[in-house]
Amino acid sequence: MARAEEAAPPKLAVVIAVDQLRADYLVRFRPYFGEGGFKRLLEGGADFRDAHYRHAITHTAPGHALILSGVHSNVHGIIGNEWLVPETWESINCMEDPASPLVGINPAELGPTQAARPDKTGRSLKNFQATTVTDQVKLRYGANSKVFAASNKDRSAMLLGGKLADSAYWDENGKFVTSRAYRDALPAWVEAFNAEKRCQAAFGKVWDRLLDPAIYEQVQGPDDAAGEETGLGLGRTFPKKITGGKDAISPTFYTAFDNSPFSAEFLGEFAQRALVEEKLGRHPATDVLCVSFSQVDTCGHSYGPDSQEVMDSVLRLDRVLAALFARIDQEVGLAKCVIVLTADHGGEPMPERVQALRPDIPAGRIKPADLDAAAKKALDAAYGPLEGKELWFTRDTYAYFVRPAALAAKKLTAADVAKVLKAGLLTAPGIATAFTYVLKPYYQIKTGTGATHGMPYAYDTHVPILWWGAGVPRGVHPERVSVEDIAPTLAALLGVPTPPQAMGRRLF
Ligand SMILES: [Zn+2]
Repeated sequence: MARAEEAAPPKLAVVIAVDQLRADYLVRFRPYFGEGGFKRLLEGGADFRDAHYRHAITHTAPGHALILSGVHSNVHGIIGNEWLVPETWESINCMEDPASPLVGINPAELGPTQAARPDKTGRSLKNFQATTVTDQVKLRYGANSKVFAASNKDRSAMLLGGKLADSAYWDENGKFVTSRAYRDALPAWVEAFNAEKRCQAAFGKVWDRLLDPAIYEQVQGPDDAAGEETGLGLGRTFPKKITGGKDAISPTFYTAFDNSPFSAEFLGEFAQRALVEEKLGRHPATDVLCVSFSQVDTCGHSYGPDSQEVMDSVLRLDRVLAALFARIDQEVGLAKCVIVLTADHGGEPMPERVQALRPDIPAGRIKPADLDAAAKKALDAAYGPLEGKELWFTRDTYAYFVRPAALAAKKLTAADVAKVLKAGLLTAPGIATAFTYVLKPYYQIKTGTGATHGMPYAYDTHVPILWWGAGVPRGVHPERVSVEDIAPTLAALLGVPTPPQAMGRRLF
């Protein structure tokens, strides 16, 4: 690296996360990328081909919490997207904070559940206990630098922006909103963007493939595949009309919109607007723009990684990125920027597809009720059934919590019960091990249709890491690296201290 480059920190760091962007998508879809998007990073930057998460719960919040902090849940505290609080026996969202109400939307607008419990709609990083590279930028430069984060999901925007972000926005029902943790009111430009009703204007819009359908057939297989979801008025096949299956705008329209690549375009337009209105890249010190695109994940859950829908979503996101990078070039000059792009986790193939292609590989869907039944059966057999309506346990996504009343009633210790519970779970098909428990590869706790992620297997841990800009060694880097290496590497590129607990290493 030339000394002149070392002397001038970038004007703008661009951190892109793509929710559920499996590493292999960049290989399989590469021939169909346009100019200036993924190709710009792949050809002009550093492409780390074997980057993995080293944590087991490969979900959105733990992933985003790691990307710019370089630490795992044992430090940052974001163990899942939601979890059960044993003191109250209530499930909370990882970003939940009654003291930080949403700004820009009334809880009642979000739906009946939220209207009934507005205290559960507030959002902040109260539960996040780590320091991010974005925090380090603000700690170093204060008001001389601006950190701006946006996503389709609240947790993804906030966890990249960090606690000191100047603003973090996410979309709810077609509007970009924030929380009291960041500001008391939306700035005029966000109000104006929302007033344009760009999302609502997509009602009735048709989503069809960007390229010749034969290409999708060849790369991904048939459009109508076993295991794909059929809901939200979208059906299993192209073309798809984005209405939510209703004649007028309703909550399902917004869910259908989130599932369509139009929501990635919506976020891309918002990021471009932010760039101009917030004058990003034009402050005395380095600014940071964080954007996390959620639609590839939403679509991946509905149709699986091998679907034509996911291919088209990635190709359309490529065009959104190209437009964003072009805008950054125009406003700031890309030569003065560094870009890093990664994902929060990968994604598991549909069990139906695995079974169709390799019937010898065990694969399947697990009904949570069957797991609960196996656990209860083992406990009843060991200690006798509980009286009345008392329950042995409450389950959240990955753990069984033994209820204290059950322990008291049977005069047992939690350790005794855990041993029996674990043995009981291991009798259920699809369970590989139980710390709590881990599924065998190609099994998922998702009945019916759709795909998921959240296990410590390569299909869920393997994500891309692409770097672009001054100081980045161009080329393909085949060695195994970890996502926790992003934080120390970015901190070094920006000339700010590494987050204090970051455990990764500098990639270059
Ligand atoms: Zn995710």
